[in-house]
Amino acid sequence: MSEGLKLPKFSLGVGDRFAHQAKAQLAACILAADQGVEVIPVWNKSNREHLIIGSEPSQTRAAADAAVKELGWTKPYFLDADHINLKTVERFLEPCDFFTLDVADLIGQPADAKDVEAFVKRHPELVGTVTIPQIAEPFKTNAAFVTGVANKFLAAVQDAGRIYRFLVEKKGAGNFIAEVSMDETDSPQTPVELLIILAAIADEKIPIQTIAPKFTGRFNKGVDYVGDVAQFTKEFNEDLATIAFAIKTYGLPENLKLSIHSGSDKFSIYKAVHDAVKKFDVGVHMKTAGTTWLEELIGLAEAGGAGLEIAKEVYSEAYAHSEELCAPYATVIDIDPSKLPKPEVVNGWTSEQYTSALRHEQGNKAYNQSFRQLLHVGFKVAAKLEDRYLKALAANEEVVARNVTTNLFERHIRPVFLGK
Ligand SMILES: [Zn+2]
Repeated sequence: MSEGLKLPKFSLGVGDRFAHQAKAQLAACILAADQGVEVIPVWNKSNREHLIIGSEPSQTRAAADAAVKELGWTKPYFLDADHINLKTVERFLEPCDFFTLDVADLIGQPADAKDVEAFVKRHPELVGTVTIPQIAEPFKTNAAFVTGVANKFLAAVQDAGRIYRFLVEKKGAGNFIAEVSMDETDSPQTPVELLIILAAIADEKIPIQTIAPKFTGRFNKGVDYVGDVAQFTKEFNEDLATIAFAIKTYGLPENLKLSIHSGSDKFSIYKAVHDAVKKFDVGVHMKTAGTTWLEELIGLAEAGGAGLEIAKEVYSEAYAHSEELCAPYATVIDIDPSKLPKPEVVNGWTSEQYTSALRHEQGNKAYNQSFRQLLHVGFKVAAKLEDRYLKALAANEEVVARNVTTNLFERHIRPVFLGK
């Protein structure tokens, strides 16, 4: 099933709001290669972010291609049409070679009763005691349970099938990587639900190479994991066992792996991810979010002078428009308004004060995660500054790039892929 483009074992999803940091991001993958681990960059930017900024996927492609050329990167790299559906996919068709099929909206919408019935009939192996190697306790199910899960997910998987076939028609089979994402929904999927979903995906003949379930716990944008790490670890290991089992049982692509839509910076689960991936000897796609944009702000603030002034201006505007900026991200941010410093206060800050509040160093007492989350969703403010913002980036390229590369390599690649 997996002829054509193949996603390598380890890949890192990187966002680049303003398409100015592709080179600095790629430099982090080069540092990984220097340490003996191949980590493939996948540039992702969702339709939502393109709409907010007013950018085009083709600009992301141009930036990625230029970075690859300039740094002489000879390994694969991809451009992810992130969270698309049939309504939004059009402008991603040409520039992208990785498609995250977002079917979360259809989760919970019942499929055709006949289809559900046929699914349950076709899969007697899912009913009763389901024993999966490397999962201690077999899953106990019955027909009513499988019917219930099929009712919850089958319509969504069928929709993924429609998007996939549309892509095949437009781009040709094997000319793109397909991922199915189910993370932007209310409740996490359990390992047994994942198995049922994978059976349905195989029925639809979608040769997915990655799948992004919703994991237990909160995956807020740009801040650490909130939840039960032990429970996450257990489920993550069970998910890996389930995927290995589904590859064998349903003939899904051999390199099928989990995609973690982390929203960035889930430091407290990185060790669990690294250990599990190592134990099962499988790959993983770690998708960070557009926190590169925060590193741009940190770089500007660190530079001082006009750079620091712009960083302050962005905060002040973000503070004034926080409601509007937060609305599209309501389910993935938790800002405590009482913890947000007043703009008058921030305007008096030194470089050090600004970067300490923003940089994600949990050991630093000045680190302020409400401040960080508000700025994370505040990129629209910088987009409105247009040339003024982009010129500031160019004028401070070195300090900005250093922060972008260091952040990706030290805080993400090192713990997830190198395990240290
Ligand atoms: Zn996602």
